[in-house]
Amino acid sequence: MTSKFEKYHQLRNQVDQLSEQLSSLHKSHMACKKGCDLCCMDYDVFPIEFEAMKEALQNKQVDVQKSVDGSCIFLKDHTCQIYEHRPIICRTHGLPLLFMNDDQWELSACELNFTEFDDEEFNTENTFPQDKFNSKLFLLNQAFLKENDLPYSDFDLIPIQKLKG
Ligand code: SF4
Repeated sequence: MTSKFEKYHQLRNQVDQLSEQLSSLHKSHMACKKGCDLCCMDYDVFPIEFEAMKEALQNKQVDVQKSVDGSCIFLKDHTCQIYEHRPIICRTHGLPLLFMNDDQWELSACELNFTEFDDEEFNTENTFPQDKFNSKLFLLNQAFLKENDLPYSDFDLIPIQKLKG
């Protein structure tokens, strides 16, 4: 039987593949390591991700934490307790992200990374095309809402901390 989250999981795999390639390419400029949790905030996600995470976590024991200053409830002892099921936004942490903002291309990367990298060297080949994947996710979410007759608008987001309990 085909899972209603099959296409979402395929997209997540594509994100993982590209993230791994970019992490490997930029290995010497990335300070990301186990125990660093600067990126772990209480993110909002589309209903398709929220529901996929809910389904994946339904029979798992997760010791959810209190969100402190916007920290993620799944972060415990500097470690993600739901790493395998984390949303797409968490799968690109630390990488150079290229996106459009107010009609201008912008680049974002963790302040701990690329400290000795010349910004001029960033290009479409060595950055993560965030808009491309966000657009794909938006369209998958739109179809998911329609197919499942869910009471959300196309732009509604849900804080992942609503997954607690
Ligand atoms: S889901 Fe995991 S990786 Fe994502 S913000 Fe929470 S603790 Fe960090």
